[in-house]
Amino acid sequence: MLLCSRLPSSTPTTLRTMPPHGDQEVISRLSNELLLLVFNQNLPSATLAACAQTCKSWNRLATAVLYKHVTLTSTRKLASWSTATPPSLDATVQTLTICVTKVQTATGPEDPAITMEELRQSLGRLQVRISRMSELESLSITTPKKLTRGLWVSNTAISKILDNVPNKCLGLELVIRNGPYQASAEDAESHLCVAIRRLIPNLQFVRLALPSLCSECFGYVSSVDSPASEPIFTAVELPKLRECIIILASPKLGNNVERFDKPCNPDVSLASVNAIVESLVSLAGLGKAPAIEKLWVYDCLPGSDDEGYSYGAFVRRDVLANKSYTFPWNDIAPLKRADSFFIRMPEEEGGDDMITTRDNAACLVERHAWLTVGNGARLPAALMTKHGLHEQDCPVQTRTQWFESSKISTALWKNESDTGMRLLHGESGDLLENRPAVFRIPESWERGVLGFLRKAEL
Ligand SMILES: [Zn+2]
Repeated sequence: MLLCSRLPSSTPTTLRTMPPHGDQEVISRLSNELLLLVFNQNLPSATLAACAQTCKSWNRLATAVLYKHVTLTSTRKLASWSTATPPSLDATVQTLTICVTKVQTATGPEDPAITMEELRQSLGRLQVRISRMSELESLSITTPKKLTRGLWVSNTAISKILDNVPNKCLGLELVIRNGPYQASAEDAESHLCVAIRRLIPNLQFVRLALPSLCSECFGYVSSVDSPASEPIFTAVELPKLRECIIILASPKLGNNVERFDKPCNPDVSLASVNAIVESLVSLAGLGKAPAIEKLWVYDCLPGSDDEGYSYGAFVRRDVLANKSYTFPWNDIAPLKRADSFFIRMPEEEGGDDMITTRDNAACLVERHAWLTVGNGARLPAALMTKHGLHEQDCPVQTRTQWFESSKISTALWKNESDTGMRLLHGESGDLLENRPAVFRIPESWERGVLGFLRKAEL
């Protein structure tokens, strides 16, 4: 059989156009360096897997590339990878992305209890395997928004995984939206922030959204002797930290907001937005993070009940700049399209209107700090560049592009066109200020129906 004819159609042209005669000879003449160069060209996993089956030497080289960026986009993939992949490949893993999902069967969603047990076992195996990933640079564990109730990622399991992350790892993303449900006694006792605090001195890039999160991620909080005394926060040294994004809320349907800042421990009061921001101010002010470039708490304010004139607001609290930036948002056509999420950038960042998906809007607010690459891997932007990877296509449209593709307009745009004025501003304010997105009605105009203004009857 001709070796090259076994390659799938997605194989790069250089491989597919090799002469049909003497393939063995041609391949044997390619140096390992050249083959590695080709295999590293962002080939789809299926192509690399096919290359790995071609011959012994290709197998060694393609496998090393295949297991460099391990991306497990479902609970089932995590289960099969953690049982079937030879442990000898752990040392080749440089980035590890895990997405915990509900499991669908032919007859519908699998029983959450079965999925949960499988997940528990997979995470248990991962605790052991991650300690052998000596080249690991980045770890991302996320759960999608719509996870079956009853399925969550145990704090205990994640803490044990974090405790086994090798020292070389410089990026950590934890986006876990599900709080414990029927948590075990061990899990109820577990405090994930403390495991993060043990790991964070090694890290350069951190992105966190957890059901409960407190200042103990970044330091120690003294216990209080009496109700009158305030707990005292003492920051740890974070010599390598360059970018840290803490997500405390995100938009949900109907201009509402989902919050992630529940207290980890009801006895510790340092769990509010203010407390977390203030502990980061203290950390930066004391020079505990000398390499820090980006220290953002990303918050979200709900819209008002003012139908037709109501906009929610992302709030980026920039600790180093000591300022907050508001990004008004709204879902233009939630029932028609998934990419109808409107966001208006702050004036200082151009003030443009962008229309995209809800998740991608968050990515715009975070200024593309962590990215999803073509195969689904999640990693910090700096590492994506280093590895020559490319970002997954994100559907971001300008106002003009959106209107051309959807023919859907908004009352805001119509009103701004009619009045000749900008009625909604992405503003900046004090670091801890809550500055909701305010729809302004200009003089000589008044409210009509469905958010449309009309000339006031003077
Ligand atoms: Zn905590």
